[in-house]
Amino acid sequence: MTFINKQWVLTRRPDGKLTPDNFEWREAPCPELKDGEILVRNIYLSLDPTNRLWTNEEDSYLPAVAIGDVMRGYGVGIVEQSRHANFSNGDVVTGALNWQSHPVIAGDSGDAFLIQAEPGVPLTAYQGLFGAIGITAYFGLMDIGQPKAGETLVVSAAAGAVGSIVGQIGKKEGCRVVGIAGNDEKCRWLTESLGFDAAINYKTNNIAEALKEHCSNGIDIYFDNVGGEMLNTALLHINHGARIPLCGMISTYNDKENQPGPSNIDKLLIKSAKLQGFIVIDYLDRAEEAMAYLGAAYAAGDIQYRVHLVEGLEKAPESLGMLFTGGNNGKLIVKIDPDWAE
Ligand code: NDP
Repeated sequence: MTFINKQWVLTRRPDGKLTPDNFEWREAPCPELKDGEILVRNIYLSLDPTNRLWTNEEDSYLPAVAIGDVMRGYGVGIVEQSRHANFSNGDVVTGALNWQSHPVIAGDSGDAFLIQAEPGVPLTAYQGLFGAIGITAYFGLMDIGQPKAGETLVVSAAAGAVGSIVGQIGKKEGCRVVGIAGNDEKCRWLTESLGFDAAINYKTNNIAEALKEHCSNGIDIYFDNVGGEMLNTALLHINHGARIPLCGMISTYNDKENQPGPSNIDKLLIKSAKLQGFIVIDYLDRAEEAMAYLGAAYAAGDIQYRVHLVEGLEKAPESLGMLFTGGNNGKLIVKIDPDWAE
């Protein structure tokens, strides 16, 4: 059987926001497999803020996506054909399956690796709680944030994929947890469903005043997903010995030029505080530790997550913008295969 591979190719670098004009849709029959290759039916594609960084001309923590290349992205799919001893038809794989429906991948490249999907766990979970998102949240908080019972943890982009898990881990560890999010519905979800102690709508409130009100003992951990002015404001409220895991800086990703650093950075000095950046790939060799913790927490009903599903690979370029406007309610995922029943 011949499969048609549908792809989004990066054809222009963004000038500010990434839009559908930066991509071109292509369709072509998949080539015959060579020895060592597999053909995957890509079912779910994860859309992530970092996709924007990969389209810049300069390399980030990964090489820039070259003009003319299929857009990079993490997927979950099923092996349809295999000429590699480690992969069989029907295996579930995840990895850099990219913005395409039927990638052909060298089995030894590391771009696709096997996962043992648990019965009853939807495949989308492997792009959220049981994938890179969960590993990011767990190690960012536990390794860098080092939460202790009774401390105050503030999380930005708190209703998003990473932030919502960070806050729930913080509750499990006994922290007082305050989330910052972009609308009232998200804030209600944080306090009423996820058990956050308070949530601040940063679009309708003065963040400095709201942090003073909700963090009367100051901030011990500020888990930052946003950077920019929000980080600068949070610095004003940190306690002696505070920890700031710098997970993301989404407010800056569309900037055409780097902005000067936070003017309140002196607070790190006078509070003997630590701000540390990290990338999830630093922790992949310890992934099992995160999965054991998150799996147990999920089974016990202590952690929940939500998924924002978009139907159709065609919609990938136009949907990415939701991450930057706050239009997503949970982990943003594109369902590529319409026939996948889940
Ligand atoms: P989310 O599901 O959190 O979606 C992004 C959210 O960010 C939006 O929904 C929006 O929520 C918020 N946001 C967007 N622009 C702004 C802004 N200017 N100011 C404040 N909030 C904003 O995405 P992820 O959970 O996937 O990613 C969250 C962060 O974590 C990103 O910065 C990402 O780059 C980072 N990350 C880092 C990793 C690492 O290895 N270090 C790995 C994975 C993610 P709202 O409605 O609240 O505004």
